Amino acid sequence: MQKHFYDVIIIGGSYAGLSAAMVLGRSLRDVLVIDSGEPCNRQTPHSHNFLTQDGKTPAEISALARQQVEQYETVQFLNGLASKGRKVEGGFEMDTRDGEAVRAKKLMFATGVKDLMPDIKGFSECWGISVIHCPYCHGYENRSKLTGIMTKGEHATHFVPLIFNLSKDVVFFTQGKHDVDPDFLKKMKQKGIEIIESSISEIVHQDGYMREVILKAGKKVKLDALYAPVPFEQSTDIPASLGCELTEQGLLKVDMLNATTVPGVYACGDSIIQFRAVAQAVSSGNIAGAALNRELAMEAF
Ligand SMILES: Cc1cc2nc3c(=O)[nH]c(=O)nc-3n(C[C@H](O)[C@H](O)[C@H](O)COP(=O)(O)OP(=O)(O)OC[C@H]3O[C@@H](n4cnc5c(N)ncnc54)[C@H](O)[C@@H]3O)c2cc1C
Repeated sequence: MQKHFYDVIIIGGSYAGLSAAMVLGRSLRDVLVIDSGEPCNRQTPHSHNFLTQDGKTPAEISALARQQVEQYETVQFLNGLASKGRKVEGGFEMDTRDGEAVRAKKLMFATGVKDLMPDIKGFSECWGISVIHCPYCHGYENRSKLTGIMTKGEHATHFVPLIFNLSKDVVFFTQGKHDVDPDFLKKMKQKGIEIIESSISEIVHQDGYMREVILKAGKKVKLDALYAPVPFEQSTDIPASLGCELTEQGLLKVDMLNATTVPGVYACGDSIIQFRAVAQAVSSGNIAGAALNRELAMEAF
């Protein structure tokens, strides 16, 4: 039987949420973690660049984290989707899609973001496998391979040099009409980077590992990997419905201690961070957990 009034409800039980839950569990807080089990990196075969866990599967890392957090008796878990939230006397109430209603003094959103896939056949199947969002996560494994880059405008000027450091066989896809700085375009050509303006219509792959891309103009280009940052949106609109403000980038607006603009509501992980990485998610959960515990301690003293 679930307890129905907690100190904190954490919505999202992946790296950020579990990190916050550990701090709060170690501070004897009654915590409920609600998690729908769909982290953004679930399709990637191996996670990299997080000390002690380099090369493990995303699921292995979160399973170990959850096992460790489960040792703290005051932390409970509810597998499911939080669907609605509202302010109530003394705190907040959260509904789940399965009809559960739970209450807590404080809320923590560790709900991450939803990546929006472009309309390119094969793109979503390759996402996190050979279509890559970040050179720090998967660049080393794809070093010196046949590499494509698909991005826009100002971002290209920062992104292309990072990838060129890892591979010299680079093709840049403008996806039609583009807004890349002409001087930067010239520099890419001087470095031997082929510029292709025709849009990619299909990625040909085997189990997510790409073989080639097919352009709208019909040409085929052999590629091992395609770097393609994609737009995103918050995984849930519950924070916004409670009044939490968003930044221009679509992240939840937080202060230095990860408190949102609504008193009593904190956030951590990808929902607040531009530089998405497991290490950052864990770090921000740790900060938010400690800040929230401090707020509870101050209020009770
Ligand atoms: C394809 C890909 C590959 C990546 N590879 C790496 C890598 O190799 N190394 C690295 O350091 N980083 C990598 N990252 C980044 C890393 O995965 C993220 O930074 C990290 O997962 C963020 O953790 P998080 O806890 O904030 O969010 P997530 O891990 O996305 O978890 C959010 C959790 O909240 C849950 N949730 C959302 N809404 C609700 C709701 N309404 N109710 C209940 N639960 C909800 C979801 O089900 C999910 O479990 C990768 C990202 C992607 C997209």
